[in-house]
This record gives sequence, structure tokens and C-alpha cells, in this order.
Amino acid sequence: MKDTNTCPHCRQRNPLENSQCSYCAQRIILPSRGTVAIWRLGPVREGLLGILARTVSDALHVPCVIQPALIDERPSLRPTWKGISANVFLRQTHARSKKGEVASLGVTEKNIVPSASYNFLFGYAYLGLPAATASIHPLSQDNPSEHVLAERLLKIALHELGHSLGLDHHDYEEEIDCLMVGDADIDCTETIDQGNIRFCPACLSEVRRKLQPRH
Ligand SMILES: [Zn+2]
Ligand SMILES: [Zn+2]
Ligand SMILES: [Zn+2]
Repeated sequence: MKDTNTCPHCRQRNPLENSQCSYCAQRIILPSRGTVAIWRLGPVREGLLGILARTVSDALHVPCVIQPALIDERPSLRPTWKGISANVFLRQTHARSKKGEVASLGVTEKNIVPSASYNFLFGYAYLGLPAATASIHPLSQDNPSEHVLAERLLKIALHELGHSLGLDHHDYEEEIDCLMVGDADIDCTETIDQGNIRFCPACLSEVRRKLQPRH
């Protein structure tokens, strides 16, 4: 089965290259040059999505677009997987990233699972690849307020986008207040809530350098 996008207007599936729906002729992919393009896998509450777009844009000083097309859920290669494969979701998000974009950011309310030894994952990205993903599912299990949930999602999204832009982790021992503090041990929302919401000066200048307009 080929990867497709679902039209949010008529619910028909379109090939990835269609920026206009071939069934209802509505625009389903917006121009995204120079932006972080946000993609949804499954429905994501609108308010949260709007806050995410605004705050990512504020933090990185680049515009965000929310793509109307919806990523179609692909089955994991392992039939026993309870949730979406984090790898498959990241690959799908990467397949939608366009030349000249800062990155594509895949967001889902579904549970994403990285391997047989983990039941969930907050986010996933490969270092230097213009694609990052975040899952709202494990961030919302304790029914946080909208404000707390939005802040958690922003932290995860910026951390993963940091990886997309080439940033690696800081060790906990360095005691740096930064979004890029190591996440190997981040397995609970308390750690996220206590963590910094900003990049440290070194990471920020690296991000700014990467995001400088190229001529
Ligand atoms: Zn359509
Ligand atoms: Zn990380
Ligand atoms: Zn840092």
C-alpha cells in the first residue's frame, strides 16, 4: 500500500505530490518554503495545534504552516505493535518535507511506539534530518490543564526540531538549562514539566545559524 494524504474536506486519499485534492479540488498542501510545516496524523485538537504553531514560530523566528492534508496511518511492520510505529511516522513525516523548508513536524494524539521495550514515546527525530515528530498521547494521560499540555508539547516539539537542526543532547551532569538536555531518561511528564522551555545560548546561536536565510 502506498503512503497517501487524506483530504480534510472530502476524506478521499490523494498521492503525496497532490497539493490540490483530485476529488474536490480544494487546496490540501500549502506552500511551505522557509517554514516549519506541521502535519497531523489523525485528528489533533485545533486549539492545541494553533498554540503549537504560534509558539514554535515565536521560538525559532520562522513561520509555521499547518498543512490541511492529513497523514494516513500506516500499519507497523510488526503486527503485535500497540500503537503507531515511531519509525514509520517519522518516515512519513520526512517523505512530506519539501526542499527549502526548515522541517516538517508530525503531530499526533495517537500513541507512538519506538521498540518492543517501550510502550510510548514523547517524540522522535533523527539528527540532521528535516523531520521531527511528537505524540500528545503520553503528555495528556494525567489530564493536565490546556496550558500545561501546550507547554509540554512545545518542549517536545522544539527538542525534536533541535535534533532536526543538528543539535545533540547535553548530559544531565552538565547542569545546563536547555531544551536539549539528554532525553534517554526522560520517561515521565514530571521531567518534562521541570525541564527548561528554552534553548541555552549555545544551542540558540546554532539554531539561528542554521535558520539564516540562504541566498
Ligand atoms: Zn477532497
Ligand atoms: Zn533527544
Ligand atoms: Zn543547549
